[in-house]
This record gives sequence, structure tokens and C-alpha cells, in this order.
Amino acid sequence: MTPAAPRRHRKAAAYLGALAGLSLALAACSSGGGSDPAAYPEDDIEVIVPFSAGGPTDTVTRMVAEPMAEELGVQLVVQNVDGAGGTVGAGQAATAEPDGYTVLMHHIGMSTAPALYADLAYDPVADFKPIGLVTEVPMTIIARADFEPDTFEEFVTFVQENADTVTMAHAGEGSASNLCGLLLTDALGVDLTAVPYDGTGPAMAEIVGGQVDFMCDQTTNTTGQITAGEVKAYAVTTPERIEALPDLPTTTEGGQPDIQVSVWHGLYVPAETPDEIVAKLTGALQVALADQGVVDQMADLGTAPVSADQATPEAHAALLEEQIATWGGIIADGQGG
Ligand code: ASP
Repeated sequence: MTPAAPRRHRKAAAYLGALAGLSLALAACSSGGGSDPAAYPEDDIEVIVPFSAGGPTDTVTRMVAEPMAEELGVQLVVQNVDGAGGTVGAGQAATAEPDGYTVLMHHIGMSTAPALYADLAYDPVADFKPIGLVTEVPMTIIARADFEPDTFEEFVTFVQENADTVTMAHAGEGSASNLCGLLLTDALGVDLTAVPYDGTGPAMAEIVGGQVDFMCDQTTNTTGQITAGEVKAYAVTTPERIEALPDLPTTTEGGQPDIQVSVWHGLYVPAETPDEIVAKLTGALQVALADQGVVDQMADLGTAPVSADQATPEAHAALLEEQIATWGGIIADGQGG
């Protein structure tokens, strides 16, 4: 045996030790252990909104992001990752580091995508942890200001008589506006030309500009334009009229009780995110929803924060699973399945 052999062994052992240390560090990072849950948050948090800036999901996100940021002591930075009815942004959030620094705001579309997208890149239940529900927003049926009908009853007749030319905007397959549009076309027994956008912010701009005839969208995107007279409003899709738009009849008053939908919103993190981080985000969400400024802003736009017991992972998970089953059934029936 030469003296070189033990030296080589020592070198090899040191090298292997360093490698083991490195792989442990990498494993810690990839499992979300790169951030210390007890110290969280130490850096800005990205909030993915899976629709365009300026639309209703974006508006609700920005409303709650500010008081959540104050509570957490870091910035919440909104990123609009739009496309394919919200599935592009949700897919990006599903594969983000599970360290609490990427949060997804999504709405009812989280529950419709599995039935609509055969190749969906994520599982809304298995790939995420819910943080809590945020708000449930009524929808309104609105049209360009010079669209011929004046009342909801006239709108129904006009659309039925002119189905070959009327155009309907929505935010992609599985979006809330798409679902409401499907309920509407089903109820009226018509097929319409749908014009998809990456969010109803840009769709609203084109309705105001007169390029598209009508859409069904959350009050968080339509109340301002309705009140300003920039669009015509026909009906609200809730069982009761809403305070922000007291003159607007319900679809039921207009003889169309099947056109009913409210758009629930919730926050999510990737599934492997530590529970301690989820609890901190839930706590900050609850503080934001109790903030009088948020309550007032939401009221002006026809909605309200959910109650504290709904802004929890448990209530959110239960609603998500119930809605996946409900919409899965409705969509399968609609597709003849
Ligand atoms: N309101 C849109 C929808 O129909 C989404 C958005 O732009 O926020 O789902």
C-alpha cells in the first residue's frame, strides 16, 4: 500500500461529503425548505392573477393585496399571467416553488377547468393548498351603449331574433363570463358568435368602443361603466337585486331564472407549501377582509368580503370540491355526456 491511497480516500471522502451537503441544500430548496416558515415572509410575494390587468379578478386582488401586505410587512406584487380561461396562470402557480412567495388568486374557473380541458396541466385539488375564500361577486348582463334593446325582456327577444349576428364577449373557455354566457345561450335556446379575450378588462374596452355587442361579467368590472352610462345594463344574475345597482332587475324578474351565477374567488399556494405559511396567509387574508376600506370598495362594486369562517382553507377546500362536482355535471350534460 502506498501513502497515496489513504490521501485519495481522504480527498474522495471530503468530496463526497461536500456533494452530500450540496444535495441536502438542493433538496431543502426544492421542497420549499429554502425559506424558513417561522421567519416567513422575508421577501415580496408574487400574486398571480390568471386574467388581464384592469378586469374584475385583478380589481379584487389589488383590493385585498394592500391590507394583506401591511399585515405581512412585505409587498404583494400582482402578476397578470393570462390566457386560456385562466388555466395558463393557474398552471404556472401550480409548479411554482412551494415557499409561500407565489400565491394564486382564482375564481369559479378553478372548478370548471377539469371538465373543460382534457389536457389540463394541473389538478385544482391535488396541486394546491387553499388559503381561503375572498368574495362572491354577482354578474351583470351588459351591452354596448347603442345596442338596440332597452330592457332585459327586449334583450331576450332581440338576441333570439338576431342570433346569427349578435356577438358575445367572454374571457376564454371556463371563465366566469363564458359560464354565464353558456347559461344564457342555453336559456334562450340560441347559438351566438363568441369573442374570447384574455380577460374581461379588454372585453369591456371593446364593448364600450362598440366592437362587440354584449357580455355577462362581474359587477367588480361593470358597476362603474353602468353607473356612468357607458354601457347598457339589462339584469343582475343573483336571486335578489343588489344595493350598488338597485334599479337593475334580476334575471328571474325578467323571466329567466336559469341564468343565475355568482363568482366566488379564492387564494391558493402550491400543494407542498408548509402549513405554517398557509396559516400566515390565511391570517392576513382575514385581516384584509375585515378592513373597512376593503368592505367599502367592494360595496361600491356590488360585492362584499366573505365571512371570516369562509376565509379559511377548510371552507375553501369544501366549496372547491363541491363546485368541481357541480360544474363537471353541468358541463358533461351540456356536452351530451
Ligand atoms: N371576468 C373574467 C371572467 O369572465 C375574468 C377577469 O378578467 O377577471 O372570468
